[in-house]
Amino acid sequence: MRDLSNENVIHIKKDEIQYLQFRKLLEFKEIKHAYSLGTDWDFRTEKLNEKLPKEKVEKALNNYKKLANSIGVTDVKIAKNGQAHTDNVQIVKNIDSDFMRFEKTDGLITDKTNIFLATSNADCILFMFYDPKLKVIANVHSGWKGTLQRIGAKAINKMISEFNCDPKDIICCICPSIRKCHFEVDKDVKDMFEKEFQDLKISQSTDLMEKSQVKEKWRIDTVLINKILFKKIGLIDKNIIDSGLCSVCNSDLIHSFRVEKENYGLESAIISRVY
Ligand SMILES: [Zn+2]
Repeated sequence: MRDLSNENVIHIKKDEIQYLQFRKLLEFKEIKHAYSLGTDWDFRTEKLNEKLPKEKVEKALNNYKKLANSIGVTDVKIAKNGQAHTDNVQIVKNIDSDFMRFEKTDGLITDKTNIFLATSNADCILFMFYDPKLKVIANVHSGWKGTLQRIGAKAINKMISEFNCDPKDIICCICPSIRKCHFEVDKDVKDMFEKEFQDLKISQSTDLMEKSQVKEKWRIDTVLINKILFKKIGLIDKNIIDSGLCSVCNSDLIHSFRVEKENYGLESAIISRVY
């Protein structure tokens, strides 16, 4: 079995399940977190093409519980974003059931304890944020549309404006997602990125965007775009912790929309404050 551990993440295999943990977040005992690994389970609770059968949703809910149990949490309450490719970030104050979905929302923030903030992906970027001084957590889903809308930066700005976080304290962990090696787009998407990120001079940086070998295709580094935006707000280099893993390159262990096509499954990132 391949091991995806590197300087920033540890690949854990236990009780037949697998997940990644960020070494940096493990320094904080008050934080429980994981990013699921493996294509034999799925975390989809939303509609895919047509309404998902009830059993499939129940299975996904059970998978969330299994993942949380395996990192030592037995009383599991989950706040899940709606995966709607919006730039909406909501503050979670309390939840009235074991599993609550926040529709039309892609980012969640809380300073409450014992609520897992959950997001899911198959190629999209997931960011887990933590301010260890004020004990505020956030979990954000940012596909290319979310990156175009700068949702990650908006979540950080909300942590600053609503909770008084100092950007110098905020840790950002970047889960596996599609990377520049595989994020190839057509001219229409390339044009949108060029227009939105004029401030980053995207068309002058081959690190951010370059012509693919394939005619009329471009490759874009959406992770790097976000890192630059976060540093502009004031996050410190050493606090931006990147798993560095491409979901397409590692599709044997990570769900990938580009590889699995229409019946693709989802991985999940979960983070909670336990005290
Ligand atoms: Zn790749």
